[in-house]
Amino acid sequence: MNNIHKLSATELEKLISEGKITSVQVTKDILERIENVDDKIKAFITVEKDHAIKAAEKADEIKENTPLRGVPIALKDNIVSLDEETTSASKILKGYYGTYDATVVRKLKEANVVLVGKTNMDEFAMGSSNENSSFSSVSNPWDLERVPGGSSGGAAAAVAACEVPIALGSDTGGSVRQPAALTGTVGLKPTYGRVSRYGLMAFSSSLDQIGIIARNSLDVAKTLGIIAGVDEYDSTTVDIEVPDYVGLINRDIKGLKIGISKQFFEGLNPEMKEKIDEALDKLVKMGAILVDIDLKYTKYSISTYYIISSAEASSNLSRYDGVRYGYRADADNIEDMYVKTRTEGFGTEVKRRIMIGSYVLSSGFYDAYFKKASQVRRLIKDDFANAFKNVDVIITPTTPTTAFKKGEKSSNPIDMYLSDIYTVSISLAGLPALSVPVGFINGLPVGMQIISNYFREDLILNVAHKYEMERGEIEYERI
Ligand code: GLN
Repeated sequence: MNNIHKLSATELEKLISEGKITSVQVTKDILERIENVDDKIKAFITVEKDHAIKAAEKADEIKENTPLRGVPIALKDNIVSLDEETTSASKILKGYYGTYDATVVRKLKEANVVLVGKTNMDEFAMGSSNENSSFSSVSNPWDLERVPGGSSGGAAAAVAACEVPIALGSDTGGSVRQPAALTGTVGLKPTYGRVSRYGLMAFSSSLDQIGIIARNSLDVAKTLGIIAGVDEYDSTTVDIEVPDYVGLINRDIKGLKIGISKQFFEGLNPEMKEKIDEALDKLVKMGAILVDIDLKYTKYSISTYYIISSAEASSNLSRYDGVRYGYRADADNIEDMYVKTRTEGFGTEVKRRIMIGSYVLSSGFYDAYFKKASQVRRLIKDDFANAFKNVDVIITPTTPTTAFKKGEKSSNPIDMYLSDIYTVSISLAGLPALSVPVGFINGLPVGMQIISNYFREDLILNVAHKYEMERGEIEYERI
């Protein structure tokens, strides 16, 4: 069978379950596709061929049909898996092999989903362009001169280039949704507490959440059904039943109330606005109703996010000391060893975050920055809570622009931070949100963000799926 790699996870699952194709055949085709195109994209840091084939053989032995059995998936390089290298794209973790499986990995293995490798990312998930990887930058499959977004840029680019049908990423302030938007894929950040973070290398623990990238929302729904749920190893997971996301995805959206906040559209480039408006029109034609809402604290979200996330990062990253994990620099005494290891092991952006974080947590500035940011975070959360009294979902653009050129923003961190302007407030509130592609401007994809109340991923996926049915297919294989 030709072009297996172009098929969605759902299509692959069907062919495998009907016995028309084996998981081994699918996995071999996917590995071949990676070999053929990844030199150009650089989406992968490691490809685990032997492990993947073994997992596929095991999936083929199982006779019972379960969701995604035998379907390949890639993991962002900050999700730990047993006996496989996991580096967070950092020199400081080069040579670190997982001693256990992250909970999501355990669940995927139990479901006989086939892990093929680890995808490139911004070092420790800090970035919006994937230019902060200590391995290589990643190219956007729609235009190789441009970034795929970040920090899960490798995951998004791999899915967009049909190197794999699904990938897991992590989203702290937008790192699944923003690269999904820039690569024309679907990216979901679940509610904080919906998916276990056990085995996800921590960046900012009160914001981090594992997310899913695929080429349609049904594939995302299937994956979420496998990885969601309470976990004894992550006390922030919540014991709420995992709904049948697939069963709920096709509900009628007549009467659905969609909140539109002017704060997310003021100053938006008119071409981007036009694409979002066209998508909203389609939803309105299906019976949805647009309602104005006021998210007045949105303007504080970038500064609040960078204070809180950097503060937590400075604490979380203190564990990389040359003793416990990965890289260790040569030195005559322990003090020098710590300093040299961290100086040589961390990249510029990570050091910048550690410095910002240490500053805002220092005794002289704690009240002015960290405490204040925590208070504003509460206001942002309340803003959303008020909005959800009147609406079912909120729709915004995912990003202010389409994919930018490599190098365009890397010398100006503030400019780079602003690419997250539409995603960070949702993370601060702990809400779920998904980016779905709604069209192209000059050949580059545009994403629309759908946000719901806590634990209503079923509704987000429902709206996205209905929209996709109206929009029609996207032709992915560009390279
Ligand atoms: N781009 C944001 C940052 O650099 C978000 C990162 C993320 O969500 N992991 O912090």
